[in-house]
Amino acid sequence: KCNNPVPVFKRALLNSQKTAIKDINGEKTYLELISGSFKLSKQISDVCAKESLAKVAFLCNNDISYILSQWATWMSGQIAIPLSTAHPVELLEFYIQDSETNLIITTPQYEEKLKPLADKLKKPLHVIDQAALIDAESTNLDEESLLCNLPKGSFYKKSPALFLYTSGTTSKPKGVQMTYSNLEAQVSSLQHAWNIQSTDTILHALPLHHTHGIINALLLPLSAGGKVIMLPKFESDNVWSHLLNINMPQKDRVTVFMGIPTIFNYLIQEYDKLFSKSSQMTEYIKTHCQNKIRLMICGSAPLPNTVFQRWKDITGHKLLERYGMTEIGMCLSNPLTENKVRQRLPGFVGQPLPGVKVRVANAENPKDILLEASGEYNKGIWSQEQEDKAVVKIKQGLASDAEIIGSLQVQGPSVFKEYWNRESVTKEAFTEDGFFITGDTACYDPTVNSFKIMGRNSVDILKSKGYKISALEIETKLLENPLIEDCAVIGVPDEVLGQKIIALIVKRVNKTADESTVNETDNLLTLKKWCESKFASYSMPTLTFVSRIPRNQLGKVNKAELVKDFVK
Ligand code: ATP
Ligand code: MG
Repeated sequence: KCNNPVPVFKRALLNSQKTAIKDINGEKTYLELISGSFKLSKQISDVCAKESLAKVAFLCNNDISYILSQWATWMSGQIAIPLSTAHPVELLEFYIQDSETNLIITTPQYEEKLKPLADKLKKPLHVIDQAALIDAESTNLDEESLLCNLPKGSFYKKSPALFLYTSGTTSKPKGVQMTYSNLEAQVSSLQHAWNIQSTDTILHALPLHHTHGIINALLLPLSAGGKVIMLPKFESDNVWSHLLNINMPQKDRVTVFMGIPTIFNYLIQEYDKLFSKSSQMTEYIKTHCQNKIRLMICGSAPLPNTVFQRWKDITGHKLLERYGMTEIGMCLSNPLTENKVRQRLPGFVGQPLPGVKVRVANAENPKDILLEASGEYNKGIWSQEQEDKAVVKIKQGLASDAEIIGSLQVQGPSVFKEYWNRESVTKEAFTEDGFFITGDTACYDPTVNSFKIMGRNSVDILKSKGYKISALEIETKLLENPLIEDCAVIGVPDEVLGQKIIALIVKRVNKTADESTVNETDNLLTLKKWCESKFASYSMPTLTFVSRIPRNQLGKVNKAELVKDFVK
């Protein structure tokens, strides 16, 4: 008897008759997806006959063609590299070259875009025929023969499954080699912590070339046998319609939604535009969201307190903020269920997820460990009780009731082993005893039993007038002012101060006639005065108005790039 399905969709096979995906073209069951992927995997194996661990890059829309490409690559034992439909050809060339891709897969829609590139780089290009892959026969596939044709179970223990590229916020994107074991650990940790079940329906409106959209919002629900509604792209009105189940079948009712801060911001703006004036509608939204949607999660970039609060007012949901990275998957998370010891507090990202160990090290001396915390499974079981007691050990001699701030390090089965083709970067990324150095500064606050992210060491932890200041904390404060729509705080080298703190500010479009009569200088003066009442003199930022803050698809700001504009 054969029992070595690709581990991450082991549970999917148990749900084979269930709907797995609803996309723009309709619904597909797990069986149809598995059967279609199997056919495609044979085609991949034919092209890559001579390769073991061939790199298969694929460019697909957010629909089932994406899943077929990913699963087929895994079934054929090769490495999947998701490309982004939002990227121009030059960027696609970077990913294909950097990863040393052996085969490119795409759909007819992108054939024209990719053909010249594939020819230039001398890479085979395979265009999927979706209808031929999933046909009438796909509903009666012999599962036994399918499973016997997959690589042996042992193959999936250590082999790389995915090259996931980092977002490229601080330097060129780095290829992170994710093994099947890494994926399994990440999925299982989140499944336990967020209780993702086959009864869940998750609304997917995220880009599919980063960990958030690929693992959290897609692989996780599919591994649990749930249903994923894949939207071709994020559009506020469409997302609201789905969240509220308006003009849609009852069976498409969403139970879980994941987004980045920018997405929740857009949804709030849309709400203000469309619904806020009708008390009947606002009432309906709150009741529906509270009663029908069980979980709303936010991450990838810091969630402003103002967004947390507004979203709570609108939907009754406290967004569950979590923190993670491409290299480690998710790491810290707010609790699924709140109680006396653990709450979802704005600005906090919670505690280590199951199976994750974190350390906070002295920023000046990484070997000086100030704190250790771990989310420990008890014989593979994760319970609320367990979660409440997550072990936090504070270094002897340190006050047990004061904040502990330092560099965040992570270890666990979800942590990657190496970057692709970047040996020295990999070496520098780990401590001697095998912890991954995240490059982020974290703060543990014992009074609320939760961690805060203070920002990236390289660009967010500023030094001015001899003080260490977190740019993220300044941003959080600034966003409390209703005149400010968006902001980014940066540190510009300064001979006298060390770093000069500059806040780039996007003004909120004036809503009342009163406000619109106030001119630019008055606005600046009002804001300056307000800041002086909120900030210590050493953390007081110099304010500069800009029309927008450049953010990438995941809402992240490349601050090193912004600083360049201020360096003469
Ligand atoms: P690169 O490594 O190429 O510069 P990147 O670090 O932005 O890009 P990702 O791995 O996608 O690429 O992002 C991880 C980073 O995102 C973390 O190191 C952290 O700085 C930030 N981040 C993620 N979630 C949160 C959060 N909830 N709050 C604050 N920051 C977050
Ligand atoms: Mg990074």
